[in-house]
Amino acid sequence: MDKNETNKKLQPRPPIVVVLGHVDHGKTTLLDTIRKTNVVAKESGGITQHIGAYQVEHNGKFITFIDTPGHEAFCQMRSRGAKAADIAILVVAGEEGVRPQTKEVIDCIKREEIPVIVAVNKMDKPQVNYEKTVGELEKEGLVVESRGGKIPAVKISAINGEGIKDLLEMVALVAEMEELKADIEKPAEGVVVESYMDSQRGVTATFLVLEGILKVGQWIICGHTYGKIKSLENFKEEKIEEAGPSTPTIVLGLNQVPIVGERFEVVESEEAAKSKIVEKLVESPKNIQAGPSASQRGELQSEGLGEEAKIFDIILKADVQGSLEAVKDSLMKLDLENICLNILKSDVGDISETDVKLAYPANATIIGFRVKASAAVLNLAKRTGAKIRNYEIIYELFEGVRKDASKLLKPETEREELGKLKIIAIFRKEKSRMIVGGKVLEGKIVNKTNLDVIRNGEKITSGKIIQLQHNKKDMAEVEKGREAGILFEGEPIIEEGDILENYRVEKKKREL
Ligand code: GDP
Repeated sequence: MDKNETNKKLQPRPPIVVVLGHVDHGKTTLLDTIRKTNVVAKESGGITQHIGAYQVEHNGKFITFIDTPGHEAFCQMRSRGAKAADIAILVVAGEEGVRPQTKEVIDCIKREEIPVIVAVNKMDKPQVNYEKTVGELEKEGLVVESRGGKIPAVKISAINGEGIKDLLEMVALVAEMEELKADIEKPAEGVVVESYMDSQRGVTATFLVLEGILKVGQWIICGHTYGKIKSLENFKEEKIEEAGPSTPTIVLGLNQVPIVGERFEVVESEEAAKSKIVEKLVESPKNIQAGPSASQRGELQSEGLGEEAKIFDIILKADVQGSLEAVKDSLMKLDLENICLNILKSDVGDISETDVKLAYPANATIIGFRVKASAAVLNLAKRTGAKIRNYEIIYELFEGVRKDASKLLKPETEREELGKLKIIAIFRKEKSRMIVGGKVLEGKIVNKTNLDVIRNGEKITSGKIIQLQHNKKDMAEVEKGREAGILFEGEPIIEEGDILENYRVEKKKREL
């Protein structure tokens, strides 16, 4: 790299724009119209897959659009710490004005302090009332320029293209004022804007490069997925060798489907990738809840956290987009010690055979929320062994996920029943110990093993045998029909008449 280039380290980069607004106000139509009129699609039928972002050229300058309308996606990216968009276009239908989601978006924009351009849409409709619309925006704190404020506003019709040039012009202007720059010498990093499992190509992700230059052959990590870049394509699905800042790029080569909104970064090698992922998992061990998991934590720590970190792959299906986003968002916040949830796919609609076909080889669990699975789908799941969990109540979904996830950590144990003893006498009671005596009813009682205390047929507590005696002599075992004295460690609540069930726990190797 020569000196000239070093000096040019910080280079201007195109703005990344997100389109937000109330449902049906025309976000999708606007994105489609901009793409159709400004992107020369490739000859073989144009853009086939949903890429998640595209770039247009306007008066010799590039503008990158995030092609996923809706503030959920935007706010989600933000909440994951990814600064994805530089400029927001707030679409408001001129005949409807400010609606609930318009307000949500305004709150989000204010929180993030991102420059906004108002696009008053559907200007072709006779019922449009521009002044009323911008008046309503003013009440929400967005004062447009024509009313003495600072917010640029453009009148458009997403359907017939009116005003869209002006809108792009405004984007270019705002971008210029923002002086967006990127360091092209840094190892490349950025954010995932789309990802899915392609049946032919495998894991497919669209990255937006924010710094540096991404190149074929580099090792990357992205959340807890990693891989070597097998190929790069631009958003028109044409092969490229490298991608610079603000460029949407289709990346093949990750080992798993990364989560939209996740950050990616380039690392030096496979080893670096793996150790960084383990580092990440260990750095943020999420706290497991109280209860039986407390003992799991002890085992995990003694066995080394890093090695124990597990990934729980799921496919999420929900009835509507709103609940899908809500479930996804909350799932990502679930505290699951040392387990990383990996959402391979999330989608609106009933559980399909395709979901099962994706889940089975990936050993993923399909989680449905207020959706159905047809008999054929259930059948296929049964045949392949794919797990389907369907929930109607959100709380139950979380509990179910927690339970399934914890199975990944729990060592499988086998309980060997040894014998039973009936308590005849209590000799001593301390804070966490008791000396008790009784008669062995079945099998034998073995020193240094476990006990369940049973009263009226129900287990009331468990503990351990610390010392075992017969006729005041220490014993390794006491047989059926004999009397035994036990130094019990545990909750000191044993009473005369209780039954002690004696057993040994053997840990089987963990299966994953
Ligand atoms: P989104 O939910 O915000 O993505 O909204 P859509 O882009 O799906 O648009 C909702 C409806 O409004 C569709 O039927 C569009 O055809 C229509 N629409 C969008 N923009 C315009 C416009 O500029 N003029 C008119 N007349 N209809 C529009």
